[in-house]
Amino acid sequence: LNPSDYIKEHIRTVENWPQQGIMFRDITPLLQNPKVFRVLIDMFVHRYMDAKLDMIAGLDARGFIIGSVVAYELNLGFVPIRKKGKLPFTTVSEEYELEYGSATVELHTDACKAGDRVVLIDDLIATGGTMMAGRKLLERLGATVVEGAVIVDLPELGGSELIKASGLPLYTVCNFD
Ligand code: 5GP
Repeated sequence: LNPSDYIKEHIRTVENWPQQGIMFRDITPLLQNPKVFRVLIDMFVHRYMDAKLDMIAGLDARGFIIGSVVAYELNLGFVPIRKKGKLPFTTVSEEYELEYGSATVELHTDACKAGDRVVLIDDLIATGGTMMAGRKLLERLGATVVEGAVIVDLPELGGSELIKASGLPLYTVCNFD
């Protein structure tokens, strides 16, 4: 089994959660298996070890779990991009559209500086809205987002295509149709 398939095998699908008709891709079985967790982290670490990054940014909340471990292994700092109202210091914020309504993500204004090279990590791409908003925040501080990286892509929702078309390279470990 190749690493991508090994990881995909440990993602659980929960039907009709958080609402009717949604197939939620649950990464907790992957996290609780130490071998699979290590294979996953190693994929990210190998990919970025020579990328001359300045830091790793992670998206609230599952992006924190993966992103902080990758940052630690690469001997880099970690910056959290959080949902509205969670960060205590001055922030920049970006609102984006959801299927119903909108959401806002925020980043501390001193999280990074102009010219910093950053990889932005989350667990999953659906519509791509969260990743695009996070990227905008980092770019508003002058950082260069080198790549977005996630465990799971849901290609049918079109988010990954949108992100790549916008010029941001995207690394995805596996996908579900
Ligand atoms: P998007 O903004 O791309 O539409 O949605 C992606 C965001 O929603 C990510 O932060 C991700 O954690 C969360 N998300 C949406 N659907 C799922 C899912 O099926 N599984 C998981 N683990 N996260 C999801």
